[in-house]
Amino acid sequence: MPSSNALRAAVNDAHQQFAGLTDGKNADYIPYLATVPSNLFGIAVVTATGDTITAGDVDYAFAIESISKLFTLGLVIDDIGADALRKKIGASPTGMPFNSVQAIELHGGKPLNPFVNAGAIATTSLVPGSSPDAKWANIIGEMSAFAGHELKVNEEVYKSESDTNQHNRGIAWLLQSYGYMYSDPIAATDLYTRQCSVAVSAKDLATMGAVLAAKGVHPVSGKRLLKEANVREMLAEMTLNGMYDASGDWLYQVGLPAKSGVGGGVLAVVPGKMAIAAFSPPLDNYGNSVRAQAAIAHISSQLKLDVFGA
Ligand code: GLN
Repeated sequence: MPSSNALRAAVNDAHQQFAGLTDGKNADYIPYLATVPSNLFGIAVVTATGDTITAGDVDYAFAIESISKLFTLGLVIDDIGADALRKKIGASPTGMPFNSVQAIELHGGKPLNPFVNAGAIATTSLVPGSSPDAKWANIIGEMSAFAGHELKVNEEVYKSESDTNQHNRGIAWLLQSYGYMYSDPIAATDLYTRQCSVAVSAKDLATMGAVLAAKGVHPVSGKRLLKEANVREMLAEMTLNGMYDASGDWLYQVGLPAKSGVGGGVLAVVPGKMAIAAFSPPLDNYGNSVRAQAAIAHISSQLKLDVFGA
């Protein structure tokens, strides 16, 4: 485990080096996301024992988007078990963009993993609860428990996404036609859209990730939030699919399980040690934040955090 001085130096250095990067572009297929200031950039590290190190815009609340898929996965995997999840959703990369319909068609309707939109909507359809409200209470309750305080939906994001989520609704119906949707497809898509619209800061995200780094226990409260046995499956899913079809290159270069969102967040986990969250809106062609990836890659290499480098 690096010293807190080394951690602080690496985080500050990453912020300084990459704040000037101008590559990439905010997501605009969700109109709200195009309006978020592109120069925002924050990095937060939370260790498995609850120490926090930050640089830049770490309190700005942005849309969690696809990183929410990780926490819904946690809820469902703890409920139905890793084997059932693998049967109903899968654990393999699709090799295609995160919202690909072709990927569904090529695999007999199976979404293949919980981090592409198809697999995420199917995962959300498995959330326990007797009504959409009860399911929502479980989803937001799970995310809030991980953050250590009550998280809220950004209603503007939710409206913007709901007005434009016809493609995701189409995916949900397609899954239904193949038997891979486990509740009403429109209700599941709406819950999924809401979970993507939850506002988090980089500090929140790092705290949430630190639960995975600490084998399922909250680093501050000490409460168990995930069954220990399921943490490795979640990290495996992140490793294989967390950065979409850039996951292989990410792993080769950085060597850390991570999950990204089109809101500009990236969350990486160093098992047993810490979580690193970075946020900056401009994305590359895969939908991953340019500055956030550069920052995490830099910190990982400075501190030799690569899980394959040990
Ligand atoms: N809500 C977004 C969508 O469904 C999330 C995608 C992402 O972050 N990659 O398209």
